Amino acid sequence: MEIRVNKEKCTGCKICIEVCPSGAIELDKNGRAQINEKCTLCRLCVKECPENAIEIFEEKKKTPSADISQYKGIWFFAEQKNGKLSHVSYELLGISLKLAETLKEEVCGVIFGSNCTEMAQELFNRAAEKVYVVEDESLDEFRQDIYVCLMTELIKKYRPNIVLASATMIGRSFIPQVAARIKTGLTADCTDLAIDPETKLLQQIRPTYGGNLMAKIICENHRPQMATIRPKAVEEAKLIGNRTGLIIKEDFTSFNATCRVDLISKQQVEQTIDLQEAEIIVSGGRGLADPKNFDMIRKLAQLIGGAVGASRAAVDSGWIQYPHQVGQTGKTVKPKIYIACGISGAIQHLAGMSTSDYIIAINKDPDAPIFKVANLGIIGDIFEVIPKLIQKLESKK
Ligand SMILES: Cc1cc2nc3c(=O)[nH]c(=O)nc-3n(C[C@H](O)[C@H](O)[C@H](O)COP(=O)(O)OP(=O)(O)OC[C@H]3O[C@@H](n4cnc5c(N)ncnc54)[C@H](O)[C@@H]3O)c2cc1C
Repeated sequence: MEIRVNKEKCTGCKICIEVCPSGAIELDKNGRAQINEKCTLCRLCVKECPENAIEIFEEKKKTPSADISQYKGIWFFAEQKNGKLSHVSYELLGISLKLAETLKEEVCGVIFGSNCTEMAQELFNRAAEKVYVVEDESLDEFRQDIYVCLMTELIKKYRPNIVLASATMIGRSFIPQVAARIKTGLTADCTDLAIDPETKLLQQIRPTYGGNLMAKIICENHRPQMATIRPKAVEEAKLIGNRTGLIIKEDFTSFNATCRVDLISKQQVEQTIDLQEAEIIVSGGRGLADPKNFDMIRKLAQLIGGAVGASRAAVDSGWIQYPHQVGQTGKTVKPKIYIACGISGAIQHLAGMSTSDYIIAINKDPDAPIFKVANLGIIGDIFEVIPKLIQKLESKK
């Protein structure tokens, strides 16, 4: 949509300038109104112009780039680690099944790796109908170029209507490249998905403007409709028993996939527990005041079998690495217990942890926003509370 001034009708009365809340209208050198880039399309000027000189132009509907009726099926990329499906794969299956209730299209997994038949069976046992498999030992390790090539070719061949991946390191790395090659849109980091009952379009729902608004994004004219979903944002598909399904195997060698990167060696990073899989997380924030005080957080986490998380303030200060960051621009977590230590509870941090089952907050400021989401709030100094907790846990051991 666009708003334009009909210069023939405009008398330069300036009423539009007075009513515009964004300061988006000025007079041109001929004394006629002109609209600048500050326009938010609020249409107040259109309503108030006494000469009806300000007009709305709707964009013509674009013609679809693909014959969208040929695209059928809801696909999700099932991530695996060491031959076992990750939890995120079951989450994607869960949301795909929910979409299928309205869309009435089949739900299909895509797996790359070895041991695929066993993994496909796991998906069938949770109601997937079909699994596309590319089997090769070399695919057990994520290799971006190769995954991009395989997924792109599969999509071109089978034309799914919807393709989903998890917003994990793997999904975030390769799925945007696939979307670019297929020339379709992709909404990253969705927190929910739905099908519009009338248009049958995929509604891709995600926070925007710092988490203050939820946007519903649609992809009208291109196929497939693609999205990544934040881990832990949706429910896992439930195990329903031994079921059968169709496995479609594609020969890896037929893809001629090459990779510009060789895996030379693997190195274990500091975190041994995956933050998004952890049942307990102890997170530290700026209240720790110094990187060495993260030792206290690590100790507490270790004693209760938890993983270490952090606020962005702690990560930006260089006290801990980015993979530990929880929040809007970090990881979304949903542990059974989340302990926030010296974290204020900014909206961007809450976006990543507020759905945790039980939240414990330790903060010396009784008005800290974190207490609004906490199930148990401890108003106190972390340097007093945490050592006492550690002492108590150690004495119990
Ligand atoms: C676009 C965008 C994306 C963002 N993404 C993220 C994100 O993913 N994750 C994230 O965390 N943030 C994110 N932020 C930053 C966010 O807005 C906050 O700045 C950040 O979360 C603050 O971190 P903090 O709570 O550790 O620090 P602060 O807000 O400074 O809070 C420190 C808290 O520690 C308490 N405290 C201090 N000393 C003690 C003590 N001795 N004992 C007990 N309590 C103490 C204070 O009372 C205070 O409440 C983002 C911001 C933007 C704009």
